[in-house]
Amino acid sequence: MALMGKDTNAESSVMISVVIPVYNEEETLRPLVARLTETLEAIEEDYEVIFVDDGSRDSSPALLAEFHGANPKIKYVTLSRNFGHQVAISCGIDYASGAAVIAMDGDLQDPPEVLPGMISKWREGFEVVYAVRRRRKENIAKRAAYTAFYRLLSAVSYLDIPLDSGDFSLMDARVVEELKAMPERNRFVRGLRTWVGFKQTGYEYERSSRFAGESKYNFARLMRLAFDGLVSYSFVPLRMVSNFGLAVSFFAFLYMAYLIFARVLGNVVIQGWLSTVAIVLFLGGIQLLSLGIIGEYIGRIFDEVKQRPHYVVRAVNGLPQSPPGHRGHEV
Ligand code: UDP
Ligand code: MG
Repeated sequence: MALMGKDTNAESSVMISVVIPVYNEEETLRPLVARLTETLEAIEEDYEVIFVDDGSRDSSPALLAEFHGANPKIKYVTLSRNFGHQVAISCGIDYASGAAVIAMDGDLQDPPEVLPGMISKWREGFEVVYAVRRRRKENIAKRAAYTAFYRLLSAVSYLDIPLDSGDFSLMDARVVEELKAMPERNRFVRGLRTWVGFKQTGYEYERSSRFAGESKYNFARLMRLAFDGLVSYSFVPLRMVSNFGLAVSFFAFLYMAYLIFARVLGNVVIQGWLSTVAIVLFLGGIQLLSLGIIGEYIGRIFDEVKQRPHYVVRAVNGLPQSPPGHRGHEV
């Protein structure tokens, strides 16, 4: 089983760190590690792979232990439970000591063969190289939903989050340092990565379909992610609420003026109760919706002020006990 590892080379830094969150990926891990290490060995032997076991319940942890035993460059962090994709990536980044840190998924949707291209972009001087999907290989409904979301996000966000780029990216140590220093709990990694700035560039690739198993994002989790993106990087929903309030008040005022006017002229206007009920229900709906939108922001404020650690580490293998140079979530 996993040990609280005391590793001799724990403190040393490497050239390339690859961070991979893992949640029940037993079918994919073996081919992933084979393809990844082959690719890396060919271009840069000074690397580490940091898997973050995000509370897997299948044989993924045993596989990770096996990989670590066979190749000490493969290291892993075991979280105390499932904390979610974004938090798992953040955890891996916290532990990464590479001059460049690459975040990729563990389901082979992000092909390891793309890494050499991204690394050479970094060597050219770019501090962030984010992978851009040329074409998705998911079903039409999911693709449409993603496309709609990214367009909506870029329309309302105060950041220019690149279209069709996910978390698959390479970040220079400078960028990683800034990411680690960010205290926020809502870790929409691609947003944070855009926020820090530096020289960024896209790198096109063909996104594969999942190698095995099912996406861990169900509809509800995707909605949460989408809301995190929208609420954390946009004030447009809040502004919509006030604009709508203004518009409704304006029309109500016009209508009142009309009623008074009609009354004075002697045309007694008695409207049916139906219209009254419709208006009351409509406004009730709008008010609840507005409260909900404000609630989304307040909920996140509450989450932030609690200042809980982002994640709890159960064990580390091949890595220092607490991530080097990070603040805020020692365990
Ligand atoms: N993942 C994770 N924790 C979770 C959900 C997913 O660490 O709670 C990992 C998962 O094992 C995979 C990556 O995050 O390596 C992306 O997940 P998934 O493929 O389900 O997302 P999608 O590609 O559908 O966006
Ligand atoms: Mg996937």
